[in-house]
Amino acid sequence: MSNVAWIGLGHMGVPMSANLVEAGHTVRGVDIVEPAREAARAKGVEVVATVAEAVRDADVVFTMLQSGREVTEVLTGPDGAFAHMPRGAVAVDCSTTGIDTARTLAELARENGVGFVDAPVSGGVQGAEQGTLTLMLGGDLDHVATAEPFLKSVGSYIAHIGVSGDGQAMKVVNNAMLGVGMATACEASVLAQRLGLDPQAFFDVVTRSSGDNWAFRTWFPLPGVVPTSPSSHGYEAGFMIDLLKKDLGLATALGAEFDVRMDTAASAEKLFADASAAGAGQRDCTALALHLGAQVDP
Ligand code: NAD
Repeated sequence: MSNVAWIGLGHMGVPMSANLVEAGHTVRGVDIVEPAREAARAKGVEVVATVAEAVRDADVVFTMLQSGREVTEVLTGPDGAFAHMPRGAVAVDCSTTGIDTARTLAELARENGVGFVDAPVSGGVQGAEQGTLTLMLGGDLDHVATAEPFLKSVGSYIAHIGVSGDGQAMKVVNNAMLGVGMATACEASVLAQRLGLDPQAFFDVVTRSSGDNWAFRTWFPLPGVVPTSPSSHGYEAGFMIDLLKKDLGLATALGAEFDVRMDTAASAEKLFADASAAGAGQRDCTALALHLGAQVDP
């Protein structure tokens, strides 16, 4: 079995790294927050103090951090992973960071004699826990081949999209649709509530009708209907409003760069930005429904 480093033990990082422990690997993890470190220890991750210590004898180094800023911070520079990984080891970034970050990091990895694969994921915390994530890979074939046996422990659909950055391209397009799907699910749920429609009946009918979408079905934003939706657990993330806002921002920026109108993504971005500005940024994205006026029992 192999040595794996895992940097970023948050909502996704803990269940994903736990699956690698389960598969028999030694996983050395790092996070800047103690509750995250504690959660990872409870799953058998050997928590260490520094990135250098985690990656020193790693075959593969995973990052699962909020954005490109954090990923660049932990991978590059004198204390970063690239400087301390064994030559020939591969860094696999599962965060959603955008195309440019992935391409820059792949280039810096090459200069340091290590590999890099952008491998953003879809499927949420539930998919991470069940090891059923979809992974979208960008990078050189030999780096992907090194990473693949490990990826099989965290996901069930692994697609090598193309060169560095192409995994991010696929993910950003996917999340433009997720963001719009979530936003429309939230506003429609509030309207349904105002119209006096029973939430269970609303869910049962729409999931058999043309208004259905993945966000509505999986993360139904009114409590008590879908037991695994964060809305049924006090709107605790899950997938934070700030992270969905970030992903919609990546999509609208690419739309501007490539001259594609992204009006619905821009409108969803604004809704999540408003909820974030109102103080809900750390809550699950289903909490947009609360921001839009959903009435729920305290
Ligand atoms: P999260 O905020 O729960 O986890 C990130 C972790 O990184 C936190 O524990 C934080 O303390 C840690 N961290 C921050 N800076 C660090 C540093 N310098 N060194 C070490 N640790 C550091 O976020 P998440 O929900 O796990 O999402 C991670 C990434 O995956 C994001 O890019 C997100 O967009 C993407 N994603 C999330 C979901 C989801 O459902 N949550 C699904 C698919 C993709």
